[in-house]
Amino acid sequence: MGNGQGIASHRAAGEDDHTCIVFTNALHEEVRDLCALQWPEEACGLLIAAKDTPNRIERVVFAKNVAEEPHTTFEIDPQTLIDCHRTARQKGERVVGCFHSHPNGKALPSPTDRARADENGFLWLIIATEHNRAGDSGLYRIIHQTTTDAAAQSELRYFRRCQIIDR
Ligand SMILES: [Zn+2]
Repeated sequence: MGNGQGIASHRAAGEDDHTCIVFTNALHEEVRDLCALQWPEEACGLLIAAKDTPNRIERVVFAKNVAEEPHTTFEIDPQTLIDCHRTARQKGERVVGCFHSHPNGKALPSPTDRARADENGFLWLIIATEHNRAGDSGLYRIIHQTTTDAAAQSELRYFRRCQIIDR
């Protein structure tokens, strides 16, 4: 913590360090407000970046949570997903991540989230919500790491914590 400030002033930092994500406070607050409004259900949506600067979130797209149990899980409206990918392609952008809220007040990936960590490199922003207010935010990148040991080749999947840079 705190050491990232020097890096933040360097324009190319986002490209060099995949755990430093540029995300303006204004955009971040927009997401947090929406998540707070959605309490006690989970809010969800997508994070969009320009194709050549994938570590800088340019805009967010809110989606309807179509999960059967929206209080404990989320499912981004598939139509929003399709539209979003199409628009991003047309505009030279990429869908680089998703966000959702945790109405239990914790910004850590849940066991369900871990089980869904199937897109290597994808960013996950988790906003803790409690009684119509947003608490902690956690930004993570899914890492798939292939390990080769004597017996077998196995793949390790985990959420790596990222630093949010307001710039
Ligand atoms: Zn979750």
